[in-house]
Amino acid sequence: MSETKETALVGLNLQQLTEMMVEAGEPAYRGRQLFEAIYQGRTGRIDDISTLPRELRKKMLEDGAVVGFPRVRNKFVSTDGTVRYLLAMADGQTVEAVWMPEGDGGEAGDGSEAGSLTNDAPTKEASRKWDRATICISSQVGCAVDCQFCLTALLGVKRNLSAGEIAGQVCTVLENQDVRPPQDRVNLVFMGMGEPFLNYENFMQSVHLLVDGVGIPESRMTVSTAGIVPRIADFGNEPVRPKLAISLNAPNDELRSRIMPLNRKWNLEMLLAAAREFPLRPRERLTFEYVLLDGINDAAEQARELAELVRGIRAKVNLIALNPGPGISFGTPSADRVLKFQSILVGQGIPTFIRRPRGRDIFAACGQLKATADSGSA
Ligand code: SAH
Repeated sequence: MSETKETALVGLNLQQLTEMMVEAGEPAYRGRQLFEAIYQGRTGRIDDISTLPRELRKKMLEDGAVVGFPRVRNKFVSTDGTVRYLLAMADGQTVEAVWMPEGDGGEAGDGSEAGSLTNDAPTKEASRKWDRATICISSQVGCAVDCQFCLTALLGVKRNLSAGEIAGQVCTVLENQDVRPPQDRVNLVFMGMGEPFLNYENFMQSVHLLVDGVGIPESRMTVSTAGIVPRIADFGNEPVRPKLAISLNAPNDELRSRIMPLNRKWNLEMLLAAAREFPLRPRERLTFEYVLLDGINDAAEQARELAELVRGIRAKVNLIALNPGPGISFGTPSADRVLKFQSILVGQGIPTFIRRPRGRDIFAACGQLKATADSGSA
């Protein structure tokens, strides 16, 4: 490792890269060449950006410029095809990102509508085993929100990720999987470690880089929040934004405050008001996530309470049976209980889906991201 101060280019947008080039006495189009080499070419080394003159590359290196993608520190492959990446940032901090391929008529990740699946041909002569994939990325090192059922919460929050570190996770995973959007269909969910709305500016900047640079349309992105109410309104005003998912997890304040302490600051009335006011686009729906904890929030009457709570909002409910982990005191409900809960909501007219757990065997599923160097296998 060199001791000179390094400046990461990943994170800079087209305008910033162009200004940098112009300031260095280069023509403005060098900015676009850099932008494309980083986000589309995913060239990890400045030396390899062949569209730039050799002398310019040399000068940039001397000035301490690096591309700065997160590095793959470790990689765990699940029996279901899911891959959990442990990614190292420049300062040695690590976060996790998850690659979830979907194929042969399987369920889609959160980035795509369940309804569209029925149109997919069950067999495809694709050379790949998947026809679309979802990448789940992190927004912070650790998390400050302290949800009682989530492993990431046990870490506390170490720091925010920069826009480049958030978007860079996608570049690193795409490069590792040799995937090229937009030709290859990739969905993105901001549902990894951290609370995106507590790192709002960097999160939104990363969205722009991912749309403009990497080429993933925002309609294929979903961000999930534990319920940072003021940011939900800000997010609704963004001209370019992913879809919104809200982690509800309980049908009343008493229970929600117990399992999600942030509910004491932003309670269900405030949260649901923000959800009702959220400006949805044509055909867009909100998602409410609901982690089912055995014997805690998964009773029939709680399903009915939940239906009343969300009634009238153009939304669907995603049920997630608890993914267990060390230090988590809750249990996973039986499949029967999960189906019963779903059928009550559906019977009340609320579109409700069960999120299939991905990569539980490698601790890659929702609420299991902890940035451990070991495999985490049971
Ligand atoms: N902080 C954001 C982004 C994380 S998304 C948020 O809370 O929404 C992670 C999703 O997984 C959330 O919906 C969360 O409620 C859910 N989750 C957390 N721990 C879980 C666990 N142990 N099992 C299943 N889902 C869990």
